[in-house]
Amino acid sequence: MRATLIYGAGDVRIEDVPDPVLREPTDALVRVVRSCICGSDLWPYGSRPATGAGDRIGHEFLGVVEEVGRDVSGLAAGDLVVAPFVWADNTCDFCREGLQTSCRHGGMWARDGIDGGQGEAVRVPQAQGTLVKLPVAEDSALLPSLLALSDVFPTGHHCAVTAGVHPRTTVTVIGDGAVGLSAVLAAKRLGAERIILMGRHKDRTDLGREFGATDVVAERGAEGVERVRELTGGDGTHTVLECVGLKPAIETAFAVVRDGGTVSRVGAPQYPDVPADFGVFLRNITLTGGVAPARAYIDELLPDVLEGRVEPGKVFDRTVTLDQVPDGYRAMAGRSALKVLIRP
Ligand SMILES: [Zn+2]
Repeated sequence: MRATLIYGAGDVRIEDVPDPVLREPTDALVRVVRSCICGSDLWPYGSRPATGAGDRIGHEFLGVVEEVGRDVSGLAAGDLVVAPFVWADNTCDFCREGLQTSCRHGGMWARDGIDGGQGEAVRVPQAQGTLVKLPVAEDSALLPSLLALSDVFPTGHHCAVTAGVHPRTTVTVIGDGAVGLSAVLAAKRLGAERIILMGRHKDRTDLGREFGATDVVAERGAEGVERVRELTGGDGTHTVLECVGLKPAIETAFAVVRDGGTVSRVGAPQYPDVPADFGVFLRNITLTGGVAPARAYIDELLPDVLEGRVEPGKVFDRTVTLDQVPDGYRAMAGRSALKVLIRP
């Protein structure tokens, strides 16, 4: 079969790799129907040292079960399923607490010999705990929004939930990438009425408004902080959803959060130290967030997607075939595409 491999910064190739086979009785084989490129894939795409050897890549996919191991129940060949971006048994103590990203028997896609999602098929470890059955056909128009359940929408949701967003909370979302826009959608879904989106790409912030943003602040840095403060009577918002991961974004987050408020970050931090100084301490700011346990949220979010109450799949603005995946990476890295869907 064919799959995407990353060889170094800016060097993504489609190559033949061995067909996956069942190795453990808890495995399933899934033929990939839709996959996509994540903003976090752009970190290795921007900086991975070239080693001469390629690594599989991709951690968001949905597909059709082709075969299951003898210990897998509740799934059968022919089922359409979505995979969260971390695989997990869904039964250990961490999983029962809703923290499948810390599963004692789980792990990441495209690491340690596990397949990546950007290919034609995947061996899924801990299949019974990992995969969620989708009650639609593989040609459903809902596939983009269902695929968004693998990572981007639950990540935005996790940001809103950990920040404590509810109908009476004011919200600032930092970042107009796919995660930031998903955080807007999630905050709106949780009932927030005032959602300020900080982003400077008009086509993206327009989608943010469609998702529920009430105000858009295109300015950055001190000017952006000033604008949010103006919009909130000088106080800032109760919650700030930081969906970028760069140091200026977390600095802005602390500057626009209201005293006693909460900053949640789901942009994978590309900085070693959180700039939470004595001033932040004096203002009683809570910092929360982290990697989203997508599996914990899919059951709750799925009905809203199936019934069309939310359409997180609108973040996909380009579709490519597997052969065109290198173009998809270039487009996302060059910001000409928001999020790229792959039809293998
Ligand atoms: Zn577990």
